[in-house]
Amino acid sequence: MTAAESDIFSVYTYKIRDSYEKGQGMKETTTKERAQVQKASEFQIPRVTPDMRMRRLRSKAPLRSMVRETHLRPEQFIYPFFLVEGQGIKTPISSMPGIHQQSIDEMLREAEEVVKLGLGSVLLFGIPKDKDSQATGAWHEEGIVQKATRELKKNFPDLLVVADTCLCEYMDHGHCGIVHNGNILNDPSLEIIARTAVSQAAAGADIIAPSDMMDGRIAAIRQALDANGFENIPIMAYSAKYASGLYGPFREAAESTPQFGDRSSYQMDPANGREALREIELDIAEGADIVMVKPALPYLDIISQARQMTKLPIAAYNVSGEYSMVKAAAANGWIDEKRVVLELLTGITRAGADIIITYHAKDVASWLKN
Ligand SMILES: [Zn+2]
Repeated sequence: MTAAESDIFSVYTYKIRDSYEKGQGMKETTTKERAQVQKASEFQIPRVTPDMRMRRLRSKAPLRSMVRETHLRPEQFIYPFFLVEGQGIKTPISSMPGIHQQSIDEMLREAEEVVKLGLGSVLLFGIPKDKDSQATGAWHEEGIVQKATRELKKNFPDLLVVADTCLCEYMDHGHCGIVHNGNILNDPSLEIIARTAVSQAAAGADIIAPSDMMDGRIAAIRQALDANGFENIPIMAYSAKYASGLYGPFREAAESTPQFGDRSSYQMDPANGREALREIELDIAEGADIVMVKPALPYLDIISQARQMTKLPIAAYNVSGEYSMVKAAAANGWIDEKRVVLELLTGITRAGADIIITYHAKDVASWLKN
């Protein structure tokens, strides 16, 4: 820009600002108008020379790569499976494009794909044929998760199997604990949750992941695992699990909608941050090996604070609603799916998560490969 051009530019900016202040919005100015304003204006805009130029390190792609602080790796992602009884079943979940309820034989096919993509782990959710008031399907040795675990470990011994340890999918009322007179009982639920964890470990699960939010369940599970010879099986605790609206699509997937009330008497209030840190501290004291924050995106502050507080690995659950919003916007052509997914997962990682459970895992792994 020449000095004359620069002056005209400043005046033009002034003119636009002026019309904004008068509430007229941005208005086209003619060259003549600009000249008039220029005459009327006495503004002198000093030329600034920055002392430090941050753009230097952004000038070329190799430089940007060299100074990049956060990297995504396929091994950091856990890919969830929703399992049903039967053979040859692969039912799309309408609110979660690309994700299915599937029988064990179909799951094994997808697991092969997962392994080829370089993902290191899967998370198993079971949808039993029958639900009851004792969550029998959760802890029975012929439960769907137990059977799927045995098949996975037989076919893919190096693929880590993370077992979701909860009761809601197996209870006729859809809550995560035993219900009496409309109340979700804490202490009686612990025994059945611990029984579930032990049966999952016995089936070959590599990591036990309790998601129920009952008080004391990490201690109960740790003691039960140790008492049954599973002292080497780690616990990934859903420590700060919020009562979130973002679980909607998951409930379709796992058929675990509560039949009365909601989960606010055990899951956390989204407004609370300090309480999340207390939950994390308690789970660590009770023996958790990995702590989790769920959901991920509205709770990056919690992930970041947890990162400052503990040296344990931190997991974040990029939940169904977070996935579905991205998929819906991408399907409408409103966002660039690949770019947005990589940005969101980078953000969760940058906040401090070492591990991310995400339905995007397969896509991300294939993008990282190419
Ligand atoms: Zn549950």
